[in-house]
Amino acid sequence: MTNRKVPYSRVFVGDSERMYLNEVLESGWLTTAGKTLEFEKKFAEYVGVKYACAVNSCTSALHLAVDALGVGSNDKVLIPSLTFTATAEIVRYMGAHPVLLDCDPGSGLITASLLAKELERQRDIKYLIVVHYAGQAADMPAILDIAKRYGVEVIEDAAHAFPSRLNGVLIGNFSKITCFSFYANKTITTGEGGMLVTNDEAIYNRVKLMRLHGINRDVWNRFTSSKANWEYDVVAPGFKYNLPDLNAAIGLGQLEKAEEMRAARQAVAAIYYKYLGENKLLTLPKLNVAMKDHAWHLFTIILSDQAALTRNEMIERLVDRGIGTSVHYKPIHRLDYYAKKYNFQVEDYPQAEQVWQGTISLPIYYGLSLEDALYVAQTINELTGS
Ligand SMILES: *Cc1c(COP(=O)(O)O)cnc(C)c1O
Repeated sequence: MTNRKVPYSRVFVGDSERMYLNEVLESGWLTTAGKTLEFEKKFAEYVGVKYACAVNSCTSALHLAVDALGVGSNDKVLIPSLTFTATAEIVRYMGAHPVLLDCDPGSGLITASLLAKELERQRDIKYLIVVHYAGQAADMPAILDIAKRYGVEVIEDAAHAFPSRLNGVLIGNFSKITCFSFYANKTITTGEGGMLVTNDEAIYNRVKLMRLHGINRDVWNRFTSSKANWEYDVVAPGFKYNLPDLNAAIGLGQLEKAEEMRAARQAVAAIYYKYLGENKLLTLPKLNVAMKDHAWHLFTIILSDQAALTRNEMIERLVDRGIGTSVHYKPIHRLDYYAKKYNFQVEDYPQAEQVWQGTISLPIYYGLSLEDALYVAQTINELTGS
């Protein structure tokens, strides 16, 4: 037993978040307005894309993305099994069906060869959602190449991947639509929030329309117009997915230190590689990119089935030592609703299973001291007897 506490996640809020938030509180207008516009503009500039649409979650962004691409009832959408349930549920929102891909067990990412095999097997798959698991970019050039060959449209679920690079290019610049998450434990946060980015004007217009009730003009325009203008029309049954200024204010502050926070997580990852790298009972994340190109949203280890304790026992022992951890993910093929509805079989996803059976996500965030990271690593080594 110990008094030492290393939580799994902790949000860092700095002076600029407080300052921008205060500006919003003083403004007399708390929901979507100038701060959200500014956040969108700065985010688009950061990524280097034409359009950024702020929304109240990445799930909303993904929903707007499948809507904008015209995913229809009974269409097949390929997604990784090793992802958060949001990637699958937005497919169901459209009445479409998720088809699951296995992953590379080292990185947890889908690969071009897994993709090619599945698209060859099921010629009627029309869409693919790529997840940059843990914050490491999937091989987008190879994936897009194969998708194009089969006429498949691609969306990126980049909930883990801001800022994340591939060959020096930020995620957000590869496919037609990329969606980011600003949920509380993501790499930058607005409490709850998300962003959809695109270079396609038609997609942007559709997303903007559907983001707010299908009203054909922004509420912001309506309230800032000099004319007394109450009139609006509705051209589609849209959603209520706008991001309030209250949240955008926090995002603006976070965005300013996105790279500083990423670098701090990289330093934590370096400690884990250094002190856990020799442990024969663990598999550490396989790197396909340079450390500095990884967003380091997650640091996942896989505990060998040869270890004296199970993954769940390890998590319990770590709690006893004051260390919080998590598991990413119980794969989609194991979630009750999807397993029952689609009769998914565990044998069909052996590599996602291999990850799931042994995986533990370790604390990694801006503000986690390197001493605490070292304590986590040494405790794990002690518990595995290494
Ligand atoms: C967190 C997460 C989401 C959903 O993000 P929200 O902003 O909470 O809606 C989607 N996909 C993945 C892979 C995630 O990790």
